[in-house]
Amino acid sequence: MNEVILIKNGELALKGLNRGTFEEALLKNLRYRLKTIGNFTLRKAQSTVYIEPQDEDVDWDEVSDRVATVFGISAFSRACVVEKEIDVIQKAAAEYLKEALADVQTFKVEAKRADKRFPMSSPEICAQVGGYLLSQFPHLSVDVHTPQMTVWVEVRDFGAYVHGPQLPGAGGMPVGTGGKAGILISGGIDSPVAAYMMAKRGISLTGIHFASPPYTSERAEMKVISLMEQVGVYAGRMALHIVPFTHIREEIGRACPEELFTLIMRRFMMRIASRIAKEQECGALITGESVGQVASQTIPAIACTDAVAELPVFRPVIGMDKEEIIAIARRIDTFETSIQPYEDCCTVFTPRHPRTRPRIAEIEAAEAAFAVDELVKEAVEGVRVVRI
Ligand code: ATP
Ligand code: MG
Repeated sequence: MNEVILIKNGELALKGLNRGTFEEALLKNLRYRLKTIGNFTLRKAQSTVYIEPQDEDVDWDEVSDRVATVFGISAFSRACVVEKEIDVIQKAAAEYLKEALADVQTFKVEAKRADKRFPMSSPEICAQVGGYLLSQFPHLSVDVHTPQMTVWVEVRDFGAYVHGPQLPGAGGMPVGTGGKAGILISGGIDSPVAAYMMAKRGISLTGIHFASPPYTSERAEMKVISLMEQVGVYAGRMALHIVPFTHIREEIGRACPEELFTLIMRRFMMRIASRIAKEQECGALITGESVGQVASQTIPAIACTDAVAELPVFRPVIGMDKEEIIAIARRIDTFETSIQPYEDCCTVFTPRHPRTRPRIAEIEAAEAAFAVDELVKEAVEGVRVVRI
């Protein structure tokens, strides 16, 4: 039986954006997600996106898992496509949906006749297919008001489509329709979730990671790469910029009061990330900060880091509890990687008594001990790019 995936207009999260741009980006992202599992034809007709296989054996579970990770779709249907003959349609419904029908007691049939040349009306199609299903599955009864399952029959230009319940899509907007931003990605739980959340709003990402070897290990870097790969399941292709941060760390350790370590370090990160992001034509930065979670995430501390950012900084998890962030991390499958115990530079250099209410003047005075511009320039020049 030939299967296809149908994504209808009502299931596209289209809002505010030009429809053409939206659909183009969606088709491009769908093609990219599907290209490693076979050849598919994607087309748009009658306010529907059709995903049709060109090969014989297709792993439809895999196809639908992948479609479920593409932003811009709130729901989609896996359908079987048959000739526009009522006998064929009713047999297809019984065969294609037999497992789902075996699990319920009540059902109804809904029909849509987009091809007006089809000789039966929608109510006639419903009655005919419903009657046939009752004859094939004696345990079933029809309930038109609150059925446990709805069987859909859609007679369209290219064929008749039969499907059961819709599957949930990833929601959001197609990646690429919202511009591009640089995500400051550590090996922790929060920044991959922040990355996912902004990608969901249609933003394509560029990763920026600060590595401080030998204080941070190569495994810590591998961890960040796997996190980006996992985020890439939703966010698509990305470049990860690995910034050498050791020299700056050592300078901070040498010349700066311990309670200001973290803040000054974060200001360096912001300056460097701003440079890289601008070079990569990003319009914003993203971090995984959440108010009050640690000393560097109080309002005054955030004000100090924002003061040196050269782009708007998005912090999508700012108002979330750790539990809420973890729930998303589990759902997008980054949690297990995030909790692997490889140190990142924040945990290695955490001061014992960090300042929670820093004043910018005090920070700027401490920074006067460094050649800030040169250090930033050196770090930017040392960037290594990993393609995800
Ligand atoms: P995460 O779980 O994302 O590591 P966190 O709660 O551990 O966050 P911090 O370590 O204070 O918080 O970092 C706050 C944010 O700063 C991170 O979410 C991330 O965006 C950025 N950040 C921290 N360390 C790095 C790093 N080594 N490279 C890139 N970005 C970093
Ligand atoms: Mg961290």
